[in-house]
Amino acid sequence: MIEFINVTKTYDKNEKDALKNVNLFIDKGEFVFLVGRSGAGKSTFIKLLLREIDASTGTVKIKGHDISKLSKKEIPYLRRKLGVVFQDFRLLENKSVYENVAYAMEIIGRPERKIRKKVPLALEMVGLSHRANHYPNELSGGEQQRVVIARAIINNPSILICDEPTGNLDPVTSRDIMRILEEINKHGTTVVVVTHDSEMVNIMKKRVLTLENGYLTSDDVKGRYRNAK
Ligand code: ADP
Ligand code: ADP
Repeated sequence: MIEFINVTKTYDKNEKDALKNVNLFIDKGEFVFLVGRSGAGKSTFIKLLLREIDASTGTVKIKGHDISKLSKKEIPYLRRKLGVVFQDFRLLENKSVYENVAYAMEIIGRPERKIRKKVPLALEMVGLSHRANHYPNELSGGEQQRVVIARAIINNPSILICDEPTGNLDPVTSRDIMRILEEINKHGTTVVVVTHDSEMVNIMKKRVLTLENGYLTSDDVKGRYRNAK
């Protein structure tokens, strides 16, 4: 599903590489944490997947396709396969919960009748049916993050990428968010969670990839967060 073959990313010739000879394979349906200190290369990993940036050397494959070979026209289709959840919610404040989620279908031209069918299902999936007509500023942080998740899954991405999804949330709310991500994963979506939240990683006992200074230094099945130097 996601494959990095000897991927190196250098932003600036005078600086160290942001990612260095990274090799990894994430299979369809996996749930993976990507951890590492600030500056380790986590955002670079996400930007490479979304093709916001290109690898300096090496190959990034999604579903078997080398994404560097995609034309400009094909990149939006790549991004549709990837749902993204950011820490800073990026919700539209003047739209209701329902409208925020529906909007993600509208912008890719899905018909109104599909939207009316799918948005309630997505809101149910994240436990927000009762908030459909509320506005983002009327919601708690955890609820806002659930809207973001509903929006990210509404177009059935194969892969859900979550960048610090529990960064600003208390432990109990964080656990709820993780349960929702697990549920989405059980329905077949590959889930990649980038996080600093070592407690959460240790509770979840999923595969953990660790980046240190651009190097992939560990890959543990049912791993623990390593407090890397
Ligand atoms: P993380 O997300 O783990 O904090 P990043 O991927 O943002 O790490 O950064 C990895 C390294 O690349 C850091 O040394 C950072 O300073 C550098 N870096 C990130 N983005 C840029 C950029 N646009 N230009 C130059 N260097 C960058
Ligand atoms: P359904 O299975 O709900 O009747 P379709 O057969 O139209 O819907 O499409 C199946 C899935 O493929 C949809 O859930 C939708 O996410 C995706 N899909 C279909 N057409 C498009 C499109 N133009 N852009 C993005 N995704 C699409």
